[in-house]
Amino acid sequence: MKKGLLIILSGPSGVGKGAVRRILMENNRLNLAYSISMTTRPPRKLEQDGKDYFFVDEATFNKNVEEGNFLEHASFVGNQYGTPKDYVEKLRNEGKNVLLEIEVQGAKQVLAKMQGDDIISIFLIPPSFHDLTKRILKRKSETPEIMRARLQKAAKELGERSNYKYIVLNDVVTKAAEEIENIIEKEIKKQQAN
Ligand code: 5GP
Repeated sequence: MKKGLLIILSGPSGVGKGAVRRILMENNRLNLAYSISMTTRPPRKLEQDGKDYFFVDEATFNKNVEEGNFLEHASFVGNQYGTPKDYVEKLRNEGKNVLLEIEVQGAKQVLAKMQGDDIISIFLIPPSFHDLTKRILKRKSETPEIMRARLQKAAKELGERSNYKYIVLNDVVTKAAEEIENIIEKEIKKQQAN
Protein backbone atom coordinates (compact mmCIF):
# COMPACT_ATOMS: atom_id res chain seq x y z
CA MET A 1 0.00 0.00 0.00
CA LYS A 2 1.21 3.48 -0.88
CA LYS A 3 2.00 5.77 2.03
CA GLY A 4 -0.50 8.65 2.26
CA LEU A 5 0.26 12.25 1.46
CA LEU A 6 1.01 14.82 4.12
CA ILE A 7 -1.08 17.90 3.35
CA ILE A 8 -0.22 21.09 5.20
CA LEU A 9 -2.97 23.70 5.20
CA SER A 10 -1.68 26.95 6.63
CA GLY A 11 -2.20 30.69 6.43
CA PRO A 12 -2.75 33.63 8.76
CA SER A 13 -5.04 33.48 11.75
CA GLY A 14 -8.62 34.28 10.74
CA VAL A 15 -8.20 33.38 7.07
CA GLY A 16 -10.71 30.56 7.39
CA LYS A 17 -8.51 27.46 7.55
CA GLY A 18 -10.95 25.73 9.88
CA ALA A 19 -13.96 26.31 7.62
CA VAL A 20 -12.07 25.03 4.57
CA ARG A 21 -10.81 22.03 6.52
CA ARG A 22 -14.33 21.07 7.58
CA ILE A 23 -15.49 21.02 3.94
CA LEU A 24 -12.46 19.00 2.84
CA MET A 25 -13.00 16.42 5.56
CA GLU A 26 -16.47 15.66 4.23
CA ASN A 27 -15.13 14.67 0.83
CA ASN A 28 -14.59 10.89 0.96
CA ARG A 29 -12.80 10.80 -2.39
CA LEU A 30 -9.83 12.54 -0.79
CA ASN A 31 -9.29 9.74 1.74
CA LEU A 32 -8.32 12.28 4.40
CA ALA A 33 -7.59 11.90 8.07
CA TYR A 34 -7.38 15.04 10.17
CA SER A 35 -4.44 15.32 12.50
CA ILE A 36 -5.87 16.40 15.85
CA SER A 37 -3.42 18.73 17.57
CA MET A 38 -2.58 19.12 21.21
CA THR A 39 -3.02 22.59 22.69
CA THR A 40 -2.82 24.46 25.98
CA ARG A 41 -5.57 26.84 24.84
CA PRO A 42 -8.81 26.45 26.80
CA PRO A 43 -11.68 24.97 24.78
CA ARG A 44 -14.09 27.39 23.11
CA LYS A 45 -17.83 26.87 23.36
CA LEU A 46 -18.83 23.71 21.43
CA GLU A 47 -15.26 22.45 21.09
CA GLN A 48 -14.73 18.85 22.15
CA ASP A 49 -11.65 17.25 23.64
CA GLY A 50 -10.25 14.57 21.34
CA LYS A 51 -12.22 15.87 18.36
CA ASP A 52 -11.19 19.50 17.85
CA TYR A 53 -8.02 19.31 19.94
CA PHE A 54 -6.50 17.38 22.77
CA PHE A 55 -6.76 20.06 25.45
CA VAL A 56 -3.90 19.72 27.93
CA ASP A 57 -2.12 21.77 30.59
CA GLU A 58 1.35 23.33 30.18
CA ALA A 59 3.08 20.52 32.07
CA THR A 60 1.63 17.82 29.83
CA PHE A 61 2.46 19.80 26.71
CA ASN A 62 6.04 20.43 27.83
CA LYS A 63 6.51 16.76 28.68
CA ASN A 64 5.49 15.88 25.12
CA VAL A 65 7.98 18.44 23.78
CA GLU A 66 10.77 16.94 25.93
CA GLU A 67 9.92 13.42 24.83
CA GLY A 68 10.09 14.49 21.18
CA ASN A 69 6.49 13.52 20.51
CA PHE A 70 5.72 16.39 18.17
CA LEU A 71 6.31 16.63 14.44
CA GLU A 72 6.19 20.38 15.02
CA HIS A 73 5.02 22.67 17.76
CA ALA A 74 4.62 26.40 18.12
CA SER A 75 3.49 29.02 20.53
CA PHE A 76 0.68 31.13 19.14
CA VAL A 77 -0.66 34.21 20.96
CA GLY A 78 0.08 32.86 24.41
CA ASN A 79 -0.86 29.22 23.86
CA GLN A 80 1.01 26.19 22.63
CA TYR A 81 0.00 23.94 19.76
CA GLY A 82 1.62 20.76 18.49
CA THR A 83 1.15 17.94 15.99
CA PRO A 84 1.54 14.43 17.46
CA LYS A 85 4.21 12.70 15.36
CA ASP A 86 3.40 9.00 15.76
CA TYR A 87 -0.29 9.50 15.05
CA VAL A 88 0.46 11.22 11.74
CA GLU A 89 2.93 8.52 10.70
CA LYS A 90 0.55 5.72 11.65
CA LEU A 91 -2.24 7.19 9.53
CA ARG A 92 0.05 7.78 6.57
CA ASN A 93 1.35 4.24 6.78
CA GLU A 94 -2.25 3.03 6.67
CA GLY A 95 -2.55 4.87 3.34
CA LYS A 96 -4.51 7.87 4.64
CA ASN A 97 -3.78 11.36 3.33
CA VAL A 98 -3.19 13.30 6.51
CA LEU A 99 -4.34 16.89 6.76
CA LEU A 100 -2.54 19.27 9.10
CA GLU A 101 -4.26 22.58 9.72
CA ILE A 102 -1.53 24.58 11.40
CA GLU A 103 -0.13 28.10 11.73
CA VAL A 104 2.89 29.26 9.78
CA GLN A 105 5.75 28.69 12.25
CA GLY A 106 4.77 25.06 12.62
CA ALA A 107 4.34 24.66 8.87
CA LYS A 108 7.84 26.07 8.42
CA GLN A 109 9.23 23.44 10.80
CA VAL A 110 7.52 20.60 8.93
CA LEU A 111 8.72 21.91 5.55
CA ALA A 112 12.28 22.22 6.86
CA LYS A 113 12.21 18.58 8.04
CA MET A 114 10.19 16.90 5.35
CA GLN A 115 10.48 17.29 1.62
CA GLY A 116 9.35 15.29 -1.33
CA ASP A 117 6.49 14.75 -3.71
CA ASP A 118 4.30 13.41 -0.93
CA ILE A 119 4.42 16.65 1.11
CA ILE A 120 1.81 19.09 -0.17
CA SER A 121 1.84 22.62 1.26
CA ILE A 122 -1.07 24.98 0.76
CA PHE A 123 -1.20 28.58 1.94
CA LEU A 124 -4.61 30.18 2.24
CA ILE A 125 -4.76 33.96 1.69
CA PRO A 126 -7.58 36.40 2.41
CA PRO A 127 -8.85 38.76 -0.31
CA SER A 128 -7.38 41.68 1.69
CA PHE A 129 -6.02 42.58 5.09
CA HIS A 130 -9.20 44.55 5.70
CA ASP A 131 -11.19 41.39 5.14
CA LEU A 132 -8.99 39.46 7.54
CA THR A 133 -9.48 42.14 10.21
CA LYS A 134 -13.24 41.86 9.84
CA ARG A 135 -13.14 38.07 10.19
CA ILE A 136 -11.00 38.14 13.31
CA LEU A 137 -13.15 40.84 14.96
CA LYS A 138 -16.34 38.98 14.08
CA ARG A 139 -15.20 35.92 15.94
CA LYS A 140 -15.56 37.77 19.28
CA SER A 141 -14.40 34.67 21.11
CA GLU A 142 -11.34 36.42 22.47
CA THR A 143 -10.52 39.54 24.44
CA PRO A 144 -9.62 42.75 22.53
CA GLU A 145 -5.94 42.27 23.47
CA ILE A 146 -5.84 38.79 22.03
CA MET A 147 -7.66 39.88 18.88
CA ARG A 148 -5.14 42.72 18.44
CA ALA A 149 -2.24 40.30 18.90
CA ARG A 150 -3.76 37.91 16.36
CA LEU A 151 -4.09 40.74 13.84
CA GLN A 152 -0.48 41.84 14.28
CA LYS A 153 0.61 38.29 13.85
CA ALA A 154 -1.54 37.80 10.75
CA ALA A 155 0.14 40.77 9.05
CA LYS A 156 3.54 39.09 9.51
CA GLU A 157 2.28 35.63 8.58
CA LEU A 158 1.06 36.82 5.19
CA GLY A 159 4.70 37.30 4.20
CA GLU A 160 5.36 33.56 4.48
CA ARG A 161 3.42 32.50 1.42
CA SER A 162 6.41 31.98 -0.87
CA ASN A 163 7.45 28.83 1.04
CA TYR A 164 4.38 26.94 -0.14
CA LYS A 165 3.70 24.84 -3.19
CA TYR A 166 0.16 26.19 -3.62
CA ILE A 167 -1.41 29.54 -2.74
CA VAL A 168 -5.19 29.56 -2.62
CA LEU A 169 -7.41 32.63 -2.27
CA ASN A 170 -10.17 32.25 0.30
CA ASP A 171 -12.75 34.71 -0.91
CA VAL A 172 -15.70 32.32 -0.95
CA VAL A 173 -15.01 29.34 1.31
CA THR A 174 -16.72 26.74 -0.90
CA LYS A 175 -14.66 27.89 -3.89
CA ALA A 176 -11.40 27.76 -1.93
CA ALA A 177 -12.29 24.26 -0.72
CA GLU A 178 -13.09 23.18 -4.28
CA GLU A 179 -9.76 24.48 -5.53
CA ILE A 180 -7.97 22.56 -2.79
CA GLU A 181 -9.98 19.42 -3.55
CA ASN A 182 -8.75 19.64 -7.14
CA ILE A 183 -5.16 20.10 -5.95
CA ILE A 184 -5.39 17.08 -3.66
CA GLU A 185 -6.99 14.89 -6.31
CA LYS A 186 -4.26 15.84 -8.77
CA GLU A 187 -1.58 15.04 -6.19
CA ILE A 188 -3.21 11.70 -5.35
CA LYS A 189 -3.13 10.74 -9.05
CA LYS A 190 0.54 11.77 -9.30
CA GLN A 191 1.36 9.74 -6.21
CA GLN A 192 -0.42 6.67 -7.58
CA ALA A 193 1.44 6.95 -10.89
CA ASN A 194 4.82 6.98 -9.15
P1 5GP B 1 -7.05 28.41 17.32
O1 5GP B 1 -6.67 28.81 18.71
O2 5GP B 1 -7.78 29.52 16.60
O3 5GP B 1 -7.80 27.09 17.27
O4 5GP B 1 -5.70 28.15 16.53
C1 5GP B 1 -4.74 29.15 16.45
C2 5GP B 1 -3.79 28.82 15.33
O5 5GP B 1 -3.05 27.63 15.65
C3 5GP B 1 -4.49 28.55 14.00
O6 5GP B 1 -3.74 29.21 12.99
C4 5GP B 1 -4.39 27.03 13.86
O7 5GP B 1 -4.36 26.62 12.50
C5 5GP B 1 -3.06 26.76 14.53
N1 5GP B 1 -2.85 25.38 14.98
C6 5GP B 1 -3.76 24.45 15.34
N2 5GP B 1 -3.15 23.31 15.66
C7 5GP B 1 -1.82 23.50 15.48
C8 5GP B 1 -0.66 22.67 15.61
O8 5GP B 1 -0.70 21.50 15.98
N3 5GP B 1 0.54 23.25 15.33
C9 5GP B 1 0.65 24.53 14.93
N4 5GP B 1 1.87 24.98 14.65
N5 5GP B 1 -0.41 25.32 14.78
C10 5GP B 1 -1.63 24.83 15.05
